[in-house]
Amino acid sequence: MADLLLRTNSIVRPDKDRFLNEENPFEAMMVRFDRAAELLDLEPGMYKVLRNPEKQIIVSIPVMMDSGEVEVFTGIRVLYNTSRGPAKGGIRFDMNVSLDEVKALAAWMTWKCAVVNIPFGGAKGGVICDPLKMSIGELERVTRRYTAGIIQTLGPDSDVPAPDVNTNERVMAWMMDTYSMHVGHTVNAVTTGKPVAMGGSLGRREATGRGCMLMVKEAMAHLGMPVKGATVAVQGFGNVGSIAAELLQAEGFKIIAISDRTGGFVNRKGIDVLDAIKYVNEHKTLEGYSKGDAISNDALLLLDCDVLLPAALENVITTKNASGVKAKIICEGANGPTTAGADSILDDKGVFVIPDILANSGGVTVSYFEWVQNRGGYYWTEQVVNERLKDIMVNSFAEVLKLSQQHKVNMRTAAYMLAISRVSTVHRLRGIYA
Ligand code: GLU
Repeated sequence: MADLLLRTNSIVRPDKDRFLNEENPFEAMMVRFDRAAELLDLEPGMYKVLRNPEKQIIVSIPVMMDSGEVEVFTGIRVLYNTSRGPAKGGIRFDMNVSLDEVKALAAWMTWKCAVVNIPFGGAKGGVICDPLKMSIGELERVTRRYTAGIIQTLGPDSDVPAPDVNTNERVMAWMMDTYSMHVGHTVNAVTTGKPVAMGGSLGRREATGRGCMLMVKEAMAHLGMPVKGATVAVQGFGNVGSIAAELLQAEGFKIIAISDRTGGFVNRKGIDVLDAIKYVNEHKTLEGYSKGDAISNDALLLLDCDVLLPAALENVITTKNASGVKAKIICEGANGPTTAGADSILDDKGVFVIPDILANSGGVTVSYFEWVQNRGGYYWTEQVVNERLKDIMVNSFAEVLKLSQQHKVNMRTAAYMLAISRVSTVHRLRGIYA
């Protein structure tokens, strides 16, 4: 059966010439996948295998709300590819969750784990809900019922969730507990991003932001740009954006703009990030923050700055605004912040884009460390975690950069090429089970 994967000339690329919906994340992922697959001369069988998610689960989640009424939510879990190891990827709670979005995010997790060469496949999950309008009790019941709904796929050897948009350590604790209750014993390696007191890794909470900081520094060094006083605009002030901003500031960068879903603030003299984090801890959002001029999220993207760090949601840099971007470096803290159509506009402008599957891979890398620590029952210091994270990310940046120079392609295409070649190598070795 393995010759299904053999090279022929009959490759059909379904999306290539058809009009794309720029906002559909799965199509955005596929356009990039196609570009890299073509350069790799991927065999048609492999192309088909890698274009399709392995498993897609949709569950209804009935929940007793605080009002006494029953509400039914929809939950999704997609395992995109598990050839390299257990499926790995976060769970998001958001009203915009859809099957296509989760499929794209699960594919991105597959490529992300392969880019940094950690032994996981890719998955993603989501529940369509508005967690900001729910009580803690309602959130817990949604989490536990969703976990029960997808329990067949979960497990330290099969599928390991982590936090994502609007989920956190507490949600991971509930998922781990629900799973453990079902199997009858404590299994802490079933989720990552847990509270440190119950097997979470030191440094995991900061890892995605820390990775972004490391990647920005590598890009600056590559481009010969001095760090001291280099200006940064950060979109999104959650776990990724706020910590990346804090760590970049500590390295000597000047953070000139920050934002969250309520809007943004610009201050050319520099924003005191720790002070802004304190404000958000007290007020939940940046709304009412007084130490900068108010600016919209759209305008923030077009600010004159050295580094732009989109660390919120998908599709914020598009064909409509990409030509107005003035940053020299874009570090994609979010998954999918740039649409496929915007890629070439940014290339033409000479913007150096550190693609999401590399830029934000710090989170899943330390998730891997957490899983290793849980399975070994032996815990590392924060210093060891941070050193190992730096090693992996700096080496991965160098590998992607080398490939991009060899093939004269941008960093995104190079990252996809590296990832796809690693995943396809394993598929070839394993063959097709029939
Ligand atoms: N949600 C994060 C991501 O998109 C982390 C995933 C994980 O640690 O499994 O990379």
